[in-house]
Amino acid sequence: MYDFLIVGAGLFGATFAYEAARKGKRCLVIDKRPHIGGNIYTENIEGINVHKYGAHIFHTSDKVVWDYVNQFAEFNNYINLPVAVYKDELYNLPFNMNTFAKMWGIKTPAEAKAKIAEQIAELNIGEPQNLEEQALKLVGTDVYEKLIKGYTEKQWGRPCSELPAFIIKRLPLRFRYDNNYFNDRYQGIPVGGYTQIIEKMLANAEIKLNTDYFEFIKGNPNIAVKIVFTGAVDEFFGFKFGALEYRSVRFETEILDEENYQGNAVVNYTAADVPFTRIIEHKHFEFGEQPKTVISREYSAEWKPGIEPYYPVNNEKNNALYKKYEELAAERKDVIFGGRLGLYRYLDMDKVIVLALETAERELK
Ligand code: FAD
Ligand code: UDP
Repeated sequence: MYDFLIVGAGLFGATFAYEAARKGKRCLVIDKRPHIGGNIYTENIEGINVHKYGAHIFHTSDKVVWDYVNQFAEFNNYINLPVAVYKDELYNLPFNMNTFAKMWGIKTPAEAKAKIAEQIAELNIGEPQNLEEQALKLVGTDVYEKLIKGYTEKQWGRPCSELPAFIIKRLPLRFRYDNNYFNDRYQGIPVGGYTQIIEKMLANAEIKLNTDYFEFIKGNPNIAVKIVFTGAVDEFFGFKFGALEYRSVRFETEILDEENYQGNAVVNYTAADVPFTRIIEHKHFEFGEQPKTVISREYSAEWKPGIEPYYPVNNEKNNALYKKYEELAAERKDVIFGGRLGLYRYLDMDKVIVLALETAERELK
């Protein structure tokens, strides 16, 4: 009998397991995948740490979280500076003075603001009701048409007019010449990849891979006093009220016999007629100088059973459905739901650590 059965060897489960072990608790961590790490798993290919489930850049303004994660790895000084390709044009992201200067041949913030105001004057947008209105109001029609509409509709598989406004507000908008994709105080990539972090966090737990909870629990119903569940909450309850919607991503990864394919870790393809959303060149996260390179094209797809759920689709319909599952979850005093699937919320890594530490503090009193 264990104190905790932790379902999911991702960042939430591993952070909880680390804290529980520090308090002398016995944890069994299971994961249906053949490796630990969840979505932050990195695999060494040709000497390059490949982010197998999508590019992960650690960024936070929370010093406690930054110090916490630095216990487990040394972070480099990588700053995310993605670029966007639209047809034969190339722009800096996020939307900033470099983007506007290139788009309109202007130089000053006042000129950029005037251009945006001129473009949205006839649209009469009040309080933005959806992503399209929000984006137009922030950056005007040119930036919306070239850099947002195609990318977002590929990414989410829905028209921008049917998506929540908050998605676009995650991106900084600046009237300064500053291409840093994040506003956070701390940012970097762990030298040597992310998997080492999870390995260290799980050093004192027992781990069983290739183990699906729903099968495992049938044969081991009394294995632990409490369960920490970081899988999908709707699946836990047998999709009783129906399935929550997710977006999934298919990664097409290639090893290329050349040193430098695109000169940047992240290049977004924002036109609707390019089938992928972006290309990641993994070596640039660690300033790699290997003779070969590894790239991943990301194709966005609707989730269906059997493929990986990645992004919760937090529109009104799904949020209302999640509320019903949340009520059921609250009744299960023997189960703690956590992580991005357990809570059906888009969570960056720093937020996952904060939530796992808060949960640990509450549960391990
Ligand atoms: P996960 O990492 O998903 O772990 C859950 C684990 O549970 C998985 O390993 C899964 O196999 C396992 N599991 C699920 N169901 C079962 C079951 N029934 N039985 C057994 N095991 C099960 N955050 C950032 O801060 N910066 C970024 O740049 C960034 N980029 C991202 C890019 C993409 C494409 C995506 C999808 C996310 C990104 N994130 C980023 C978010 C980041 O991935 C998450 O914050 C973090 O990985 C969540 O950890 P978790 O433990 O909640 O979930
Ligand atoms: N986005 C966009 N154009 C881009 C990059 C992002 O319109 O070139 C929008 C898109 O709607 C996306 C959102 O901004 O869903 C958030 O982007 P982010 O890079 O944070 O997406 P993630 O890292 O979650 O894939």
